[in-house]
Amino acid sequence: MATLGIYIQVPFCASKCSFCNFSSRVERRAIYDDYAGALEREIARWPGIASEQGIPANFLLLPVDSVYMGGGTPTLLGAERLWGIVHALRERIRPGADVEFTMETTPGSADVDFLHSLLAMGVNRLSIGAQTFDNRELQAVGRLHSASDTVALMENAHAAGFRNLSLDLIAGLPYQTHESFRHSLEQTVKLRPQHVSLYLFEADEKSRLGREVVHGGGRYHADTVPSDDFMADEYEFGREFLASEGYAQYEISNFALSGFESRHNIKYWQLAPYLGLGAGAHSFDGTRRWSNRVDVQDYLAHGDGRRSPVEACQILSTEEQVEEFFFLGLRQACGVDLNLARERWGAGCLERWADKLAQLWREGLLICEGECMRLPPKAYVLSNEIFQEFVATPA
Ligand code: SF4
Repeated sequence: MATLGIYIQVPFCASKCSFCNFSSRVERRAIYDDYAGALEREIARWPGIASEQGIPANFLLLPVDSVYMGGGTPTLLGAERLWGIVHALRERIRPGADVEFTMETTPGSADVDFLHSLLAMGVNRLSIGAQTFDNRELQAVGRLHSASDTVALMENAHAAGFRNLSLDLIAGLPYQTHESFRHSLEQTVKLRPQHVSLYLFEADEKSRLGREVVHGGGRYHADTVPSDDFMADEYEFGREFLASEGYAQYEISNFALSGFESRHNIKYWQLAPYLGLGAGAHSFDGTRRWSNRVDVQDYLAHGDGRRSPVEACQILSTEEQVEEFFFLGLRQACGVDLNLARERWGAGCLERWADKLAQLWREGLLICEGECMRLPPKAYVLSNEIFQEFVATPA
């Protein structure tokens, strides 16, 4: 039976990390009440918003099996505002028997009482932005916490009763060396989180550090950012290290102990429906993608309970859906099952992809096992280039 995921975007952070290319920002606290109120109103009037956008109302009747609050640092809103949002959700959604409820947080932003409040409101998974266990690297990218804050949060969360914890790490931070990266991995597995995300720093123009890497400058330590070859080597090292510690890689950036794969993120890669709420949040119902206004003031101005926060809505053609089936599905270690594509879009839906798939297979960038196709692990570092092939394939 189909299920629904809910994503709630809280785009506020205590400080802006130099490597961050998300739309989150530092805001005065006075805005938190307005934002939480706008979120509650968006949740309450969602059926009306759906009908305005031509989205079938039964979308919201699906049982919800995952809720993910991310951003940003949603825990900045504090327990009272989060409770308000959770109450509004409970009024509106149909919870499944077992809901994975993830809250993103940063070390130093959640004390023991607050962790108990999160558990009481149903949060059962924390995604913790550790990034590195090297204090020099943390300082260089503008993080407000130290490595010992990460250890303290993990210990407190465990003592409070959390049994599903995820840590984020980044390869390619300023000043990072093989030794410091290995130290971060060793500290991570010592804390025994159930899940680890391992990202590569992206030198794109959406972050201050990325801009400095591209254009030069000395403010964000761009001259100490390791090379692409270093990142590729450390990613390989990290994959092998985590595997040797029992963390199975189930997606290009994600590793988990058995049974602790992120239910919510799997929805994105398997084209399952999810509803995004809040500024800039994206949604998908199986054939349509829509997104809310990104600018917080714009979102708030449309959060008065009368206007729609939705800014853009697109119905995907069959070709676009199959394109997404490949470039999202191939992110997973298990790859894609072509039979599922034929069941969903018809027997002929794969014809236009046959040459592309055969070429990737000949180049050793695709493994074919019966009707399943997946990337070989050695191709993970090239995945962005491979996915471009799917997006760029002409009709
Ligand atoms: S805490 Fe997370 S979302 Fe906020 S600026 Fe840092 S990396 Fe970005």
